[in-house]
Amino acid sequence: MLTLPRFEWSAPRALEEALALLSPEHGRTLLVAGGTDAVPNLKHRLHEPERVVHLARVEELRYVRATPEALELGPLVTLSELAAHPLVRRDHPSLARAAGLVAGPQLRNMGTLGGNLCLDTRCTYYNQTFFWREALGFCLKKDGAHCHVVPQGRRCVAAHSSDLGPVLIVLGAEVEIAGPRGRRTLAVDEFFVPDGIHNNVLAPDEMVIRVAIPARARGLRTGYQKLRPRGAIDFPMLSVAFAARVNGVCEEARLVVSALAAKPKVIGGLEKLVRGRPLDDAAIEAVAGAASQQCRPQTNVPYDQDYRHAMVPVFVKRAIRDALEGGA
Ligand SMILES: Cc1cc2nc3c(=O)[nH]c(=O)nc-3n(C[C@H](O)[C@H](O)[C@H](O)COP(=O)(O)OP(=O)(O)OC[C@H]3O[C@@H](n4cnc5c(N)ncnc54)[C@H](O)[C@@H]3O)c2cc1C
Ligand code: SF4
Repeated sequence: MLTLPRFEWSAPRALEEALALLSPEHGRTLLVAGGTDAVPNLKHRLHEPERVVHLARVEELRYVRATPEALELGPLVTLSELAAHPLVRRDHPSLARAAGLVAGPQLRNMGTLGGNLCLDTRCTYYNQTFFWREALGFCLKKDGAHCHVVPQGRRCVAAHSSDLGPVLIVLGAEVEIAGPRGRRTLAVDEFFVPDGIHNNVLAPDEMVIRVAIPARARGLRTGYQKLRPRGAIDFPMLSVAFAARVNGVCEEARLVVSALAAKPKVIGGLEKLVRGRPLDDAAIEAVAGAASQQCRPQTNVPYDQDYRHAMVPVFVKRAIRDALEGGA
């Protein structure tokens, strides 16, 4: 049986109270929202904090608000709420779809937007019990000195595995962060960094307090596709988010492929391939080919690297067709 380690537990009721409880030192405190990822990780001794700060009672972080500028989402909105919310379904169907494809229903009822965005990266050599990891000599991400995926590498390449991250990037969403040094807002794309040990810009005493999807994203055609072994529960082994503005011809397009390395990959060069042209079969093939060339899956998750690579163009085409057919 996997037990929890010992830690102090706090359940603040206000944002400022929660922020005051966070330590500036890495690893000393751990925020928990729905707990669907943090609790298993605590049991695996992947996190060993002195204090857990449980956010669930901070009601001011639970909201869905439409303003003229943006659809604003609080980090405590659950994945089930996002998947079912009429505004999200109407204006950003790919976000509702991605939320509805996370894990299974019980986990979506507990799991939150903030927890999903800040989800720890995943790896075959990391998401294991302490006993398993100790037998292997641990790894760079926790307690060890080497990476088992890229043995000569100096950086962890564990997989970004959040379903919502790629969708929020193609929608041009922003994330607001609060901490003792004040507040800052940045694009979701800039929130992630290519380091699997800690793949976002949050300092240990900061937290996500708002996600805003700009009003201009409402007119986009969007699609989300996810490859996973069991459709009922699993994390993505490949995910693709696409968004385009189409008025006869394609005016702008954005494509993100993820679950390959620590940061979602924004596919470059799309402007040249599709801008000012209809999104016809030839254009879709060209985009799928570009994605295939730019993506290099690692052996960081327990699924075949070549298969995941071969599926990149397949899932890119599906996501684009979803977008054009008005699906999600
Ligand atoms: C069997 C299983 C299958 C899963 N499948 C998927 C899947 O397919 N796709 C997927 O995306 N996820 C999956 N998950 C992971 C998880 O359920 C979801 O990502 C969920 O949205 C996490 O939200 P949470 O509130 O439970 O996060 P928590 O577990 O509470 O926290 C996760 C991380 O986010 C941090 N955090 C939480 N809120 C904030 C905040 N406001 N600011 C800063 N940091 C914060 C925590 O400190 C922690 O590091 C799965 C989990 C399990 C157990
Ligand atoms: S990618 Fe390497 S360092 Fe990162 S968790 Fe996996 S084995 Fe560890």
